[in-house]
Amino acid sequence: MPHAPVAPGEADLHTHSTVSDGTEAPAELLRQAARAGLWGVALTDHDSTAGWAEAAATVPETGVALIPGMELSTREGFSSVHLLGYLIDPLDEALLAETARIRESRLTRAEQIVRRISRDYDLSWADVLAQTAEGATIGRPHIADALVARGLVSDRSAAFSGILHPSAGYAEPHYAPDPLTGVRLIREAGGVPVLAHPGTRGAERIVPPARLKQLVDAGLFGLEIDHPENQASAKPRLRELAERFGLAVTGSSDYHGDGKPNRLGECRTAPDVVARLIAEGRGAAPVLPVRD
Ligand code: AMP
Ligand code: FE
Ligand code: FE
Ligand code: ZN
Repeated sequence: MPHAPVAPGEADLHTHSTVSDGTEAPAELLRQAARAGLWGVALTDHDSTAGWAEAAATVPETGVALIPGMELSTREGFSSVHLLGYLIDPLDEALLAETARIRESRLTRAEQIVRRISRDYDLSWADVLAQTAEGATIGRPHIADALVARGLVSDRSAAFSGILHPSAGYAEPHYAPDPLTGVRLIREAGGVPVLAHPGTRGAERIVPPARLKQLVDAGLFGLEIDHPENQASAKPRLRELAERFGLAVTGSSDYHGDGKPNRLGECRTAPDVVARLIAEGRGAAPVLPVRD
């Protein structure tokens, strides 16, 4: 059933909470969004919708609209590719099965990485669990937090450029479906798929047009071009591709609380794009505050 028309404002369409690797609970995230002056915010934890209820319950108090979403992990060869899926049905069986499989693989992969690190550093699996909220989707940021707690690095960024960098030799991939499967899963769950941070590896490593065309044909809605980590050199090319394929352009901060320098609301999506995205969502409704 199509949603009633809304007149949105600017929204930050990519944020993480303690349900994955952000450092703030969903309710706190909405309070921060109100402070940042945002009309709306999308909660997009990695491979999980477990934060939606708490975020939705905080909409009336904050006056911030919630666009429920998820950042789905996919993989193209050796490269990790992230898809944002908005307004998906959180009970869709195919998507639930796939995200359960990804989260399980993230767990065994994190254990494997920690086992390798523990041969060289004083770090245990218990240290990592101590940094991970109950039921959260685990990722390298939790290992980074454990390294910080052990005094082995100063912060997450130092962990990522040091011990967690692939060149350090402890890396291990986790299972993820390919991006085409990901786009289909999100659409079949009634959701609206957007390719997350497509320019982080520079202009030379943007998804090739022929592959992008396949994603578009499967229902890709947009490209997250205004993202703090997309390289400046990639943006003109991404805008050209968005134009060529009729894709929406989104902007978002990829806020992780204190876990990353990204500031909530530093990149935003224009109201008309937010309206189109909401109009296409079939699996869940946005949670809107009552405004007078
Ligand atoms: P993983 O999910 O285990 O592959 O870890 C990737 C996550 O780590 C992504 O959500 C990134 O946002 C986060 N990340 C990557 N680099 C950094 C960094 N330098 N500081 C903090 N978080 C990072
Ligand atoms: Fe993350
Ligand atoms: Fe991502
Ligand atoms: Zn993210």
